[in-house]
Amino acid sequence: MTIRIGVAGAAGRMGRMLLQAVSDSDLDVALVAATVRPGSELAGGDVSSLVGNKSQGVALSDDLAAVLSDLDVLIDFTPPEAALVHAKLCGEQGVALVSGTTGFSPEQAQAFDAATEGVALCCSANFSTGVNLAYKLLAQAAAVLGAEADVEIAESHHRHKVDAPSGTALAMGEVVASARGVALAEVAALDRAQRSGPRAAGSIGFSVTRAGDIVGDHTVVFATPGERLEITHKASSRMAFARGAVRAAHWVAGREPGRYDMQDVLGLKES
Ligand code: NAD
Repeated sequence: MTIRIGVAGAAGRMGRMLLQAVSDSDLDVALVAATVRPGSELAGGDVSSLVGNKSQGVALSDDLAAVLSDLDVLIDFTPPEAALVHAKLCGEQGVALVSGTTGFSPEQAQAFDAATEGVALCCSANFSTGVNLAYKLLAQAAAVLGAEADVEIAESHHRHKVDAPSGTALAMGEVVASARGVALAEVAALDRAQRSGPRAAGSIGFSVTRAGDIVGDHTVVFATPGERLEITHKASSRMAFARGAVRAAHWVAGREPGRYDMQDVLGLKES
């Protein structure tokens, strides 16, 4: 059965990639709706105005509520405020959701969880296959190297990114903290400029670069006396995230309501 997909925020950096990824996918998926921000002058035009393909017969809409009932699943990579509105609509209409938005405040995250309680939801701070595999490697490294390893996480992104550290860097920190049996909030060192003195034992340090058009680099360093292990992932195109999100949409459509992530989609929780 063809899975009917809608893309929210179609004019965004990720939105355009998603339109292309749905169109190029080998999976049995079809684009049936694409939305832009309310009042956008793009509304009413064909999606081809965004991806440069020949007409796909899908008009851009600035009213998600009006097109949602046509969908099996919505893919949403919009800013937190919009993503929250979209999540509420999906919750009300029982439409499955793939959400890639990062940078929710704690209150927004709570409201998002409440709004999506009754739907099949696939959420991930990073939909690339490589990063999700890296999470597995990080858990293994943290378990083997133990608490004596100093862990530092460095990430680099393009100059437009608004949240810092990235959702992926924080997720990597969560993986390491959880393998050590501690809460990340208790051990994260987010801003050393505010605090002098030697490195706190057991802390997980974060550093952030924002420059140019870097798509997304993450390195986790485990340093012990005499050696250093570094696990690095570099995304060279947003297509890596878009392809993963389309795979997630195909996987989550028709599933029981619940909260899933890319590890479920890739079967990494079973191994
Ligand atoms: P962007 O600013 O390029 O795109 C966001 C788009 O959403 C814009 O075109 C904006 O006009 C549109 N928008 C805003 N409100 C809207 C509304 N109510 N309805 C429809 N469209 C609306 O941002 P981006 O770089 O594409 O990133 C978007 C989000 O995705 C960010 O939170 C980013 O961190 C996240 N992201 C996640 C992953 C992942 O794998 N999870 C990968 C890349 C980016």
